[in-house]
Amino acid sequence: MIMAFEYAPAPESRAVVDIAPSYGLFIDGEFREASDGKVFKTVSPSTEEVLSEVAQASAEDVDAAVKAARKAFEKWSALPGAERAKYLFRIARIIQERSRELAVLETLDNGKPIKETRDADLPLVAAHFFYYAGWADKLDHAGFGADPRPLGVAGQVIPWNFPLLMLAWKIAPALAAGNTVVLKPAETTPLSALFFADICRQAGLPKGVVNILTGDGSTGAALVGHDGIDKVAFTGSTGVGKQIARTLAGTDKKLTLELGGKGANIVFDDAPIDQAVEGIVNGIFFNQGQVCCAGSRLLVQESIQDELLDALKRRMSTLRVGDPLDKNTDVGAINSAEQLARITALADSGEAEGAERWAPACELPGAGYWFAPTLFTNVTQAHRIAREEIFGPVLSVLTFRTPGEAVAKANNSQYGLSAGIWTEKGSRMLAVAGKLRAGVVWANTFNKFDPTSPFGGYKESGFGREGGRHGLEAYLAGAAEPSNERSEREGERDR
Ligand code: NAD
Ligand code: MG
Repeated sequence: MIMAFEYAPAPESRAVVDIAPSYGLFIDGEFREASDGKVFKTVSPSTEEVLSEVAQASAEDVDAAVKAARKAFEKWSALPGAERAKYLFRIARIIQERSRELAVLETLDNGKPIKETRDADLPLVAAHFFYYAGWADKLDHAGFGADPRPLGVAGQVIPWNFPLLMLAWKIAPALAAGNTVVLKPAETTPLSALFFADICRQAGLPKGVVNILTGDGSTGAALVGHDGIDKVAFTGSTGVGKQIARTLAGTDKKLTLELGGKGANIVFDDAPIDQAVEGIVNGIFFNQGQVCCAGSRLLVQESIQDELLDALKRRMSTLRVGDPLDKNTDVGAINSAEQLARITALADSGEAEGAERWAPACELPGAGYWFAPTLFTNVTQAHRIAREEIFGPVLSVLTFRTPGEAVAKANNSQYGLSAGIWTEKGSRMLAVAGKLRAGVVWANTFNKFDPTSPFGGYKESGFGREGGRHGLEAYLAGAAEPSNERSEREGERDR
């Protein structure tokens, strides 16, 4: 019998944020309608309520935004780094001042719990701007030559899982390095980027340095294919990433791709079980599992399987699923009906292929898009749920007997973004981490982020790094090509 505490509702107030009935495109420092007047709606995934109507940018709008960014580049790139830093510090401070408003807005538009937007997304967003503000006047000392130059105009396309955080990962290093940007947020979560546009105005950022174009995949395709941009940064699905790589092949545009993942979370028999269970839960149920670096494959040493799964199921039974604005909610809504359909189809394939499905008893709200935290056992490496990115609150459990088998199974993936290791032995931690082909390896923790730490993938998880000193490299000319340099290192490690 599991005793979960009963909690009275503790909703965060919606009154802290003012959402306008409609928004335009942010081009050259002004909001304007789309050239052809097209609009689309964004909804709250937890209620299906329409939050606002936003402009759908056309190819003509993309052209206008790129031209504005090009014009702004001349002055912005010529500013002393310390002057650019002042704007970035100002933006960071305004984000902190408006963080409650932004957290509520992000929770409404995305469906993620307020606990996460308030305590994870927003503090990290501000931290990214503070961190890269600090680099703006030190680029000569970043290790990319004596006089690294900005590339020009960056076209940036981001997903819906961490809307404002992905914006920060893209815009902060680009601006610090002296580039100007045209950014397209995802079609289901456009609002926080539009509020950010307002923050740029509040900070007095020169017109055209940041341009925000809302729209769907066709806007994204027009942006990455535009002749006037010098660099493309994309985070999203591997399918679209491949398409973008094809579009850019043969051009001299620089490209970084941050794509999907199927992270292995490896638990050895000497791991502290309760601590590991917290890490597993955080690894797969944080943000409803809609996380590219989620620990979606649990690899557990056979001898502790029963004990670990019992503890994990007990813990999963205490997760509170429901109203994302409630401060006690652990698991919120799935971002869209399409994403819910993808998760449902993949989970169903798990059952059809013979894996065993388990979910705690939990009542899901009637309206909105919901999926209960789910666990699959009896999973083999051939199952779709062990190979494909589900991008939802679904954990696939596999077992291993030896460290060698754990490494082989962890690396048996087209992806290579993240991994976790749970063990009491420092030597094993280091030995296993060195053999995992993943951009980030966490030991006795999971999903820890810091702006000083580079993040990115191997194999079909993409190339290039975001965050840290490494994150500047993608926005500077004269810097070594990130992908080549890394694949050489990768090759060395494999030998
Ligand atoms: P997506 O790749 O289609 O969308 C991501 C962004 O790319 C959005 O802004 C979208 O408008 C834009 N886009 C779409 N088509 C484009 C094109 N041809 N050219 C340029 N930009 C384009 O992702 P999705 O459909 O929202 O999600 C599908 C799957 O992708 C998910 O189930 C998940 O597996 C994966 N995903 C991964 C991440 C990540 O962080 N790595 C984020 C979101 C989704
Ligand atoms: Mg929305």
